Amino acid sequence: QTVLSAPKTDAFPDWKAGEPVPYEALCRTFSLIELTTKRLIIMEYCSLFLRQVLRLTPNDLLPTVLLMINKLAPDYAGIELGIGESLIMKAIGETTGRSLAVIKQDQKEIGDLGLVAVKSRSTQPTMFKPKPLTIQGVHKGLMSIATMSGNGTQQRKVDGIKKLLSAADARSSGKVDITKDKGGPSEAKFLVRFLEGKLRLGLAEKTVLVSLAQAVIHHEAQVAGKTVASPADVEKAEAMLKTVYSELPSYDIVVPAMLEHGIMHLKENCKLRPGIPLKPMLAKPTKAITEVLDRFENQTFTCEYKYDGERAQIHYVAKSGDAGNKESSNGLTAIFSRNSEDLSKKYPDILAKLHTWVRPETTSFVLDCETVAWDVAERKVLPFQQLMTRKRKDVKIEDVKVKVCVFAFDLLYLNGEAIVEQSLRERRALLADAFAPVEGEFAMAVHMDGQELDAIQTFLDESVKASCEGLMVKMLDGAESGYEPSKRSRNWLKIKKDYLSGVGDSLDLVVLGAYYGKGKRTSVYGAFLLACHNPNNDTYETVCNIGTGFSEAVLESLHEQLSEIVIDRPKPFYAHSTGGQHQPDVWFEPRYVWEVRTADLTLSPRYLAGSREGVDPSGERRGISLRFPRFIRIRDDKKPAEATTSRQVAEMYRKQESVTKSKGPAVDDDF
Ligand code: ATP
Repeated sequence: QTVLSAPKTDAFPDWKAGEPVPYEALCRTFSLIELTTKRLIIMEYCSLFLRQVLRLTPNDLLPTVLLMINKLAPDYAGIELGIGESLIMKAIGETTGRSLAVIKQDQKEIGDLGLVAVKSRSTQPTMFKPKPLTIQGVHKGLMSIATMSGNGTQQRKVDGIKKLLSAADARSSGKVDITKDKGGPSEAKFLVRFLEGKLRLGLAEKTVLVSLAQAVIHHEAQVAGKTVASPADVEKAEAMLKTVYSELPSYDIVVPAMLEHGIMHLKENCKLRPGIPLKPMLAKPTKAITEVLDRFENQTFTCEYKYDGERAQIHYVAKSGDAGNKESSNGLTAIFSRNSEDLSKKYPDILAKLHTWVRPETTSFVLDCETVAWDVAERKVLPFQQLMTRKRKDVKIEDVKVKVCVFAFDLLYLNGEAIVEQSLRERRALLADAFAPVEGEFAMAVHMDGQELDAIQTFLDESVKASCEGLMVKMLDGAESGYEPSKRSRNWLKIKKDYLSGVGDSLDLVVLGAYYGKGKRTSVYGAFLLACHNPNNDTYETVCNIGTGFSEAVLESLHEQLSEIVIDRPKPFYAHSTGGQHQPDVWFEPRYVWEVRTADLTLSPRYLAGSREGVDPSGERRGISLRFPRFIRIRDDKKPAEATTSRQVAEMYRKQESVTKSKGPAVDDDF
């Protein structure tokens, strides 16, 4: 346990007690964090700063935490800045009186809009001294930019950014060495990076969460007259905040509750509740039934059909009210995506029917399920492609052509109580009791509890016949079978029919660039450069070029969609090889995630995926690439930061290597 060693006082931000926290103080902390890659040191700076906020201006704790994690509000609030490079460049130009052409030129040379903003500012003579930015002020300003709508939104957003930028670095002496990416006054830099959605500090959200727990527990100890909290208390505080936040992922609720009741009393005050989506539990891929049997040796497990639709979390409180939740007595129905996006406008048909599927004694619940397209005439599920044809927004019930059936597989909350800690067997029994299935509308996921290889194989075949993707195999009894929000857990395994002899799973990759097509395809992009995500340093590492699996119509629509997000040069957080012949013709903002299937994985000097994961025995640090990658579909429900990680790619590669070792190394033969 590190006891917080105070850094030099002149380096560490301070302000008058009770005053709003200066934004500059946060940026100074960011600059310190930027100078290191060591997680423990990053955590220490982060937690020291949060302690300072707690000590001097506790009311600013919430916006401080939000600005640290590059968010304005919880995910389910759906508040996004949605600002591309061109708007930011316009704002920088207009703030500093430099032409757009000059800004663009700078961006071409420097490649980092944050630094372009700093450079632009430092050349600007200051006519009057604007009021320094505060954390509250920046949060409010960004929030108003994010929530603008209606006529002239673009220009008003630019004006909002200008207002913030012109006050940035008001406190600094103005001398900035822009040849140095790191250190120095930096409000403009971090403002711009916030707008771009990447602070590039290596400051993972989890790190902020742990730092917050440390800061609060040490602060509480100090208030109680001790110097710091004991290591045992720090550990308890971290575990407490992690658990509570995983069940109620909203700093807007958790931070004020922590200030009011103290961190050790969080659990009584912040509980999973209908209306606030939690991040779903996820599964690990497997390649063979025998792998499943090895994993669950001597433990009971259950197999369920893996339906091929869209993950949904349905929240409900009956109108008459739920004794345990008085505030919600007006009733509540909501449906959220895997990403905590509000899907109510996509599935009004589900929400309208919801109350007809529950038994009278069921007053509230949070349900984990899959929505699947349903063939009314044939009374069976339809492939995922049918579901994709549904509109995403403003669906009117009377216009719904693709009917959906909800397949329920887990229950997280029932009648005023969170039940995530109960065993799956218990949750499943409660689920069965709480609902009344209606054919074609609501059903329990089909399951089978046999533990023998033959039984599982037969069940897998049946699932495929029933148009499912394969099986989910889950731990059934004991503490390990509890629901683990936001975790990709080894207590849930997936077996997909297509991957039994392949690499085990498809990958979800970010589109970074494209190559113009040849022959018939010259007016569209014919191939694309894809990357996985490395959350350790928040970069996108290239993993393959892909030109297979696209119909002409798909290529056309992709061209239209991607043309809007072309940028002049790769973002500084794209890890790609720089050899001239490997450069794509155009680069994109990181926005779209595609699901891709691959024959296998191979080491390649041309790509950088997982090159820091120590997979290359030659020590050359080659990356991993996909062989014969094939496009499956766009993953609208995933953001780039949720793409397959470098570590997952490395895991897939290692697993495959241990199987194919005897066959000699694979060759890199992509086009
Ligand atoms: P995938 O591409 O396999 O959907 P993913 O990363 O979205 O991957 P995983 O946890 O890896 O999610 O796979 C589980 C997904 O399968 C869930 O997110 C859910 O949408 C779907 N699913 C279908 N049937 C079930 C089931 N019976 N239990 C759990 N998840 C199921």
